Amino acid sequence: QTDDARAASIPRYIRVNRTCWSTKEALATFQSQGYQLGDPLASSKAFKQDDHIPDLFAFNPSVRFTEDPLYLSGKIILQDKASCFPAHVLAPPARDDAVVIDATAAPGNKTSHLCAIMQNKGKVFAFERDRKRFTTLKTMLSRAHCSNVEAVNSDFLTISPDDPKYIGVTHILLDPSCSGSGIVNRLDHLLDNEQDDDVDSERLNKLAAFQLKMIRHAMTFPSVQRIVYSTCSVHAVENEHVVREAIKTEEATRGQFRLGRREEILSTWPRRGIPEEMDHPADAESVVRCSPGEDRTNGFFVSLFVRMREDDAEVQ
Ligand code: SAM
Repeated sequence: QTDDARAASIPRYIRVNRTCWSTKEALATFQSQGYQLGDPLASSKAFKQDDHIPDLFAFNPSVRFTEDPLYLSGKIILQDKASCFPAHVLAPPARDDAVVIDATAAPGNKTSHLCAIMQNKGKVFAFERDRKRFTTLKTMLSRAHCSNVEAVNSDFLTISPDDPKYIGVTHILLDPSCSGSGIVNRLDHLLDNEQDDDVDSERLNKLAAFQLKMIRHAMTFPSVQRIVYSTCSVHAVENEHVVREAIKTEEATRGQFRLGRREEILSTWPRRGIPEEMDHPADAESVVRCSPGEDRTNGFFVSLFVRMREDDAEVQ
């Protein structure tokens, strides 16, 4: 199948920005515009609420929202379904004392999703090292009415976990640069990623080393309880291999991190990791994959690291 054929089987997803209004209000608005509940791939007037991500709607791929006032005012966010998984899995609390990091934030779709889940409460530090992409991040966050986010134009790897500002960080979202090999939908690609079409194994290994370094750094934050690592790559080198190395590193064993159990990470999503690519084949259940086109999404990978508690040791 070509990328174009795959892209045609991916609905146009829009996430209702609950920072601005409710899913119920959005549903009524779409219906008042003539859309009817049904299979979005069957008709340009049919739309559907998503089975896995509350607040997500699927429309026909031919429907364009980029000029729509709902998009321009930040009430809806154009975001592929798979790209909604990381913030949903991280599940930060909606509490005034919550402190969360989005380590690699631009253009900011996952940041605004975190903000919506947190009901704009607490604090999100959103890091972005690239100056130009940082400017885009600021624009997107202001359009999405995120008032609990502090955007920082810095390299996450230079951020000290001992800085008093970050002592209380309990949740970290890590969606670092990757090969982008899972992206087949051009519009989302332009919005969401710095895709590299020409990836050789040397480049993949370099990316994997960087991705592993990012996870290890996240594990050194003293109060962190949950870390989500995701990519829009289909390569095991950037996915299962990075995860299996991360869980064995000193940062993980000293801090006692384990992989999220299936029930903690999209348990009803059928496509899991590739067993042969993990040290323990059963660990593949702990990670989620999306196959481009086949799953009506772009290609994607999500994993969750959880700091172990005493009662975890008994379960292990
Ligand atoms: N999470 C974003 C979203 O959903 O809108 C997409 C993130 S994109 C895959 C990765 C981003 O991380 C790029 O904008 C890149 O410039 C940034 N980045 C890469 N390495 C970084 C680092 N060490 N510190 C901060 N940002 C970094």
